[in-house]
Amino acid sequence: MESKADVVIVGAGINGCALAYEVAKRGKDVVILEKNYIAYGATGRCGAGIRQQWSTKENAMLAKKSVEIFERLSDELGHDIGLRQGGYLIAIHDEDEMKQAKKNVEMQKSIGLPVRIIYEDEIKEIAPILNPEGMNAIAATFCPTDGHANPFKTTYAYAKSAERMGAKIYRFTEVKNIKTSDKKIEKVVTNKGEIKTEYVVNCAGAWSKEIAKMVGIEMPNKPVRKEALVTEPLKRIFDCMVISFKHGIYFSQQEEGQILGGIPSPEEKSGYYTEPTFSFLKHMSYMLGKYAPPLKYVNILRQWTGFYDVTPDALPILGKTEIEGFIQCNGFSGHGFMIAPMTARLLAQLICNEKMDMSIDRLSQNRFKEKIIKEKSVVG
Ligand SMILES: Cc1cc2nc3c(=O)[nH]c(=O)nc-3n(C[C@H](O)[C@H](O)[C@H](O)COP(=O)(O)OP(=O)(O)OC[C@H]3O[C@@H](n4cnc5c(N)ncnc54)[C@H](O)[C@@H]3O)c2cc1C
Repeated sequence: MESKADVVIVGAGINGCALAYEVAKRGKDVVILEKNYIAYGATGRCGAGIRQQWSTKENAMLAKKSVEIFERLSDELGHDIGLRQGGYLIAIHDEDEMKQAKKNVEMQKSIGLPVRIIYEDEIKEIAPILNPEGMNAIAATFCPTDGHANPFKTTYAYAKSAERMGAKIYRFTEVKNIKTSDKKIEKVVTNKGEIKTEYVVNCAGAWSKEIAKMVGIEMPNKPVRKEALVTEPLKRIFDCMVISFKHGIYFSQQEEGQILGGIPSPEEKSGYYTEPTFSFLKHMSYMLGKYAPPLKYVNILRQWTGFYDVTPDALPILGKTEIEGFIQCNGFSGHGFMIAPMTARLLAQLICNEKMDMSIDRLSQNRFKEKIIKEKSVVG
């Protein structure tokens, strides 16, 4: 293993790999340390939906700018990332949700997103499989440029491109400690040796809190367990991702035809356990049947568990900290795949002292010392 590097990234999920690519592209020596394997964390367990419809401008801008990158990414990286833009259809269940939806749409349109409110006829036109009555939906919002990419193909495309530019990715290499002196990063201690560096970037997902503790930083993030399932493949029925903030359900049809989705389990317990539960399976099957009745007859092939890394306002924690050289890139609260391309670009600009395309000052951990504005457009 290298004895020194300009930048050490902890975690080889989508964020670690995308950042390694962006930093290596700028000529720096980059090392990723991953305690398991590429995409072991939330990245390899996610729905990989790409949604620009948020209630906060920060999330909406990060997602919009990321979509612009996603649209060119297969060409840029030389690997197909499986991007499909079938839109996101977000159910509106009552007048309160309608009020919030109208506010969201106004802000989203002001930044140039082609989002609109649609009613029963158009819901059925966009996804004939849906039953608005069973969904208890009075309307929906729809953004046609939202979509989905393959999380494995995207992460590996970034990882391979980073390696091509000289980045090193050490699998099964666990960060055990980070040494500082005078509040400045000095070196990273792993189970395979030590690396001297000026920058450590905390891309450790649901384990970020443990990494931050190594330099004496307490974080407010909480790991939240989430289950997901996938069915047998079907011929193409619909192109959009369907979601509901009220019911917490989301599902879409994958490129190969399977339906993939999730919903909060009614008997959820907290903790890092990964065993699948029958209560999730039962609840998800029931709700899928309500939303899209023909899916009642489809076989479920597999279910699994992953962890959201949730902050008190459901916005990520990005940027510099009180420890010089310790950079945060976590707290993605269930939407860290879709905003990874822009996040990586911004953090690379920060590390390389370039002019940043967008300010991330409001996303630093310092915001929790003041009154926070919560992101409202989240699935529970
Ligand atoms: C069921 C589910 C569905 C989701 N759906 C979506 C979606 O539709 N759209 C979306 O945008 N997001 C979604 N997400 C969220 C998304 O998956 C995450 O926000 C994103 O993948 C986070 O990526 P990451 O690279 O920051 O972290 P992760 O992918 O979690 O990677 C962190 C890595 O750090 C490594 N690590 C931890 N500690 C150490 C250590 N001490 N030493 C070395 N390595 C370490 C871990 O092994 C892991 O590989 C979903 C998540 C889940 C669980």
